[in-house]
Amino acid sequence: MDRDEVLRLIAYRDKEWDRPWETEKELRDFLKSDNKPLLREIGRTPLPTEYGDVTYFVFGDYTSGKEHDVIIFGKIAEEKLKDYGEPLVRIHSSCRSSELFHASNCECREELDLAMKTMGKEKKGVVLYLNQEGAGNGIRAKLSAYKDTFEWKGAEIVTRLDQNSGKPVSVYDGYTKKGYKTENRDFTIAAEILKRFDIRSVRLMTNNPNKINGLVSEGINVKPYGIHIKPANKTVEEHLRAKADKLGHSIEEKDLR
Ligand SMILES: [Zn+2]
Repeated sequence: MDRDEVLRLIAYRDKEWDRPWETEKELRDFLKSDNKPLLREIGRTPLPTEYGDVTYFVFGDYTSGKEHDVIIFGKIAEEKLKDYGEPLVRIHSSCRSSELFHASNCECREELDLAMKTMGKEKKGVVLYLNQEGAGNGIRAKLSAYKDTFEWKGAEIVTRLDQNSGKPVSVYDGYTKKGYKTENRDFTIAAEILKRFDIRSVRLMTNNPNKINGLVSEGINVKPYGIHIKPANKTVEEHLRAKADKLGHSIEEKDLR
């Protein structure tokens, strides 16, 4: 590789990190209208986990250039899972702050854990781990929204309070303030992965009506299967309340206690 090529590549990377999410949507719409796949399988392997034995797949996403992980519980003999029944499915969007660093402001890691535990017990189930941070707005948006939500007070981090209402600012306020959408994820990819395995009917582990509608509009039959995490602290409780109030998630008061 010569010097110019390296510089071009670096410029390209910079552009990628700054690229607005709209470009991905444009690409996706184009590929769909042209009947082109949105994904390709990069590889697969059997994988033993704490929760049970799974097949672990990684798919490459043509529109974002990112990779999505898929795990399927139980031995799958065939490419098509016609006899797999109506499995539990969790569409989980990556939340590195929670899953890797155990951030205490959201319930993502615990939800993933609960989903895998439940599937492990059934020895069946599919986790679609989608690389779409920050409600689909990307990691840059997430960092910026979090920065608007939390602040240092002395040696500790506290949630900022809204200057008018005096209420804690939610991460969704952060997104709105910066011109992002509070829900910007796309579930076409999830539907495409399920269809590849010939899974047409699922028990979807979610409280999010957008995920249900996203799959239904792509022709997947969905039975909602609620997933409720008792909030570990006040910040998570406020976060779940914001999800119910602002995004219409089915979380009731009793789920928060
Ligand atoms: Zn999270």
